[in-house]
Amino acid sequence: MYQHRFHRHKTREVRVGDKVVGGDNPIWVQSMTTTDTHDVEATVAQILRLEEAGCELVRVTVPKPEDAAVLSEIKRRIHIPLICDIHFDYRMALAALDHPVDKIRINPGNIGGYERFRQVVRKCRDKGVAMRIGVNAGSLEKDLLDKYGYPCPPAMVESALRYIEIAEAEGFYDIVVSLKSSDVPTVVETYRLYAKQCNYPTHIGVTEAGKPPYAIVKSACGLAPLLLDGIGDTIRVSLLGDPVPEIDAAFDILQATGRRVRKPELIACPTCGRLEIDLESIVAELEKRLAGRKTPIRISVLGCVVNGPGEAREADIGIAAGRGKGMIFRRGQMVRAVSEAEMVDALLEEIDRWEQEQLSKPDQPSQSGLGAKSAENTQTGKKSAQSQKESSFSLPLVG
Ligand code: SF4
Repeated sequence: MYQHRFHRHKTREVRVGDKVVGGDNPIWVQSMTTTDTHDVEATVAQILRLEEAGCELVRVTVPKPEDAAVLSEIKRRIHIPLICDIHFDYRMALAALDHPVDKIRINPGNIGGYERFRQVVRKCRDKGVAMRIGVNAGSLEKDLLDKYGYPCPPAMVESALRYIEIAEAEGFYDIVVSLKSSDVPTVVETYRLYAKQCNYPTHIGVTEAGKPPYAIVKSACGLAPLLLDGIGDTIRVSLLGDPVPEIDAAFDILQATGRRVRKPELIACPTCGRLEIDLESIVAELEKRLAGRKTPIRISVLGCVVNGPGEAREADIGIAAGRGKGMIFRRGQMVRAVSEAEMVDALLEEIDRWEQEQLSKPDQPSQSGLGAKSAENTQTGKKSAQSQKESSFSLPLVG
């Protein structure tokens, strides 16, 4: 099978709690709570549900002093880095920084001027806390709107570079950048333009994507081109409503783009009039029995002999069905024929065998290019922060 060569926007590493964002570290999945932050019980409960779903960085809004006041308590009860989202009132950022938070997200366009921004930068620097400079198309500075006429990609990038320069002048470099818009082409062009000019890591997302399922499709449309270009060090899929479904959506986008894999990928044909087995039941059963597995393996289940054998050969393990029977392939080699009733059990046996073999081998990419068994960063050998204990499978990314 064709081996993809992935390139990644070369970014600095920025520590955010026990994670390192940027460099060759995994692309972390982030979400944001929807509770009133000062409602500690509700906020912690939602964060714990996000953690359970696999969320790796969580953001809470801090609009009022009572929200800042509970940050230590929230931090004490959760297990992932805590990011404070600040709009309009720079004093909330200063107040948040009196607590053991891991990152401040500032929207520089609405923080009230450069001097206020500098004050937050200095406190982040003195406390060793990272900052995301989160430029938003909807709140760009007036002079940039006057200069460019509308929040176009060059205007957004100029805004980010302006605030980066101010931060650097204060001796602060623990910066992550986001350049979000609700318009997909703007998102893609803006991050691409930024990546040509700057090496601070990026948090990527399509803002205000709306309600699923359209919001997931829209996010995927915006994020996939960037991820395939190697841009993006943390990711959020913004969905209206409960944030927990954001996590699976984000991991699915990372998996579909081959950037990070934490579960088997099941490929099934759409079925058509040539179908010769009960493919839907077989796939449903397989999905159920594969739930929770973290093996980065590509499994294909095809319903007839037209495309089946060819496609099955492309997968790590595949089955090409035909008239109540199926032929199992492993890395393109025919393994054995099984009856329709035996298919799921036989595939699972092959998958178990595959897992055992992968576990006993040193790191190497699977034929699918979906990655190897190791959770470690094989590119740099670094064992910084979470990269060494990451339980899912991160791709070896070619820089
Ligand atoms: S693999 Fe066969 S059954 Fe499935 S969609 Fe293709 S032609 Fe139809």
